[in-house]
Amino acid sequence: MSAAAETNAIHTGGCRCGAVRFEAKADPVHVSYCHCGDCRRASGAPVSAFVGFRADDVTFRETQSASRFGVSPITRTFCGICGSPLTYTDARLEGQVYLVLGAMDEPQNYPPSVHGYVSEQLPFFHIDDGLPRRETTTVPRPEGAR
Ligand SMILES: [Zn+2]
Ligand SMILES: [Zn+2]
Repeated sequence: MSAAAETNAIHTGGCRCGAVRFEAKADPVHVSYCHCGDCRRASGAPVSAFVGFRADDVTFRETQSASRFGVSPITRTFCGICGSPLTYTDARLEGQVYLVLGAMDEPQNYPPSVHGYVSEQLPFFHIDDGLPRRETTTVPRPEGAR
């Protein structure tokens, strides 16, 4: 990679084994929690959090090891070596890529601004942060689906 690209990277992250790294040259456009069952299955965690960027601002390195799984229009990517979840993309959200918050090098810098899919939130999971809570998605799709 070029020195210029390194200089422009203001947000970085990667999987837990280091085989996949990514960087973004501009600030995220959306940071949110998702309580939906689909994210829960994919992550194994009771709630997920995503840092959304413009896809053009994000560069991946060593992506040959990133396996991609998905059922259209949703694609989730994982490191092919360590299995860490990396990204969520929705074909209906063209030009956007959502990085899992836990993959960011400095996750403390990305406080979510909203909760999504609280209709599917686990009954024992409580987080009293005063943020807006949406019954379904926090990013409207053309079809209104997940
Ligand atoms: Zn890995
Ligand atoms: Zn979700």
